[in-house]
Amino acid sequence: MDCTEARTRLDAYFDQELDLPNAVAIDQHLVSCPDCRASLAARSALRSSIREHADYRRDAPEGLAERVRARLGSATAAPGRKSGSRWRLPSLAQWLPAGAAAVVAAGISWTAAIQYASPSADQVIAEQVFRGHARSIVTSHLIEVASSDQHSVKPWLSSKLDFSPPVPDLSAAGFELAGGRLDYMDNRPVAALVYRSRQHVINLFVWPGPGRSAPAADTRDGYNILHWTSGGMVHWAVSDLNAAELRQFQALIATGETG
Ligand SMILES: [Zn+2]
Repeated sequence: MDCTEARTRLDAYFDQELDLPNAVAIDQHLVSCPDCRASLAARSALRSSIREHADYRRDAPEGLAERVRARLGSATAAPGRKSGSRWRLPSLAQWLPAGAAAVVAAGISWTAAIQYASPSADQVIAEQVFRGHARSIVTSHLIEVASSDQHSVKPWLSSKLDFSPPVPDLSAAGFELAGGRLDYMDNRPVAALVYRSRQHVINLFVWPGPGRSAPAADTRDGYNILHWTSGGMVHWAVSDLNAAELRQFQALIATGETG
């Protein structure tokens, strides 16, 4: 995919409206294209700015979002766009013009409309994590440094990143380290650690972040996702392992990092 093609789909990508193959193609382009990454970052900054500086806000009435969505549900989707699931609302560009009458009639501000149309930060990252996992498997770009030795993987990652990710050895519990690679999440380069459990692959994305949070679970297309913050690092784990086993993996990682 070249820049011209990427740019025509960047809005849909930003609104998480592309189907998986198209989103993965954009992901791959973004990894190697600073210009398109900057273009994407500008969209993100614009949205944040609108949220931050809009001078008129109030909560919309209970159930309004559902009513607006239902009214707009018959809008036809553009090619390459996926049909909406629970949280994948129609894109702003798609529904604002058509939805204007409904929104104005209902008496809510554009700010509220934008907030309804925007997935939360966690939802955006969850989608990136899921696609990062899918991309690593479908493109055979799973591992850049192949090693079961944490003492090989950690220095390799540290040399390529501006932080040093913890790389716990969990082999005694049946989670074998397979290696690592660089990936790109949440507008920054991150460490991707790859573990295997039987025939299952686990991608664990790690980057620095403040605070501490208990693991929160999510799913995308049958894949389980867990994210938490501990030890100064944000963690996102994704796998086709069942939820209980992924939770076990999470507990071991959290323990291994502090132990
Ligand atoms: Zn580009």
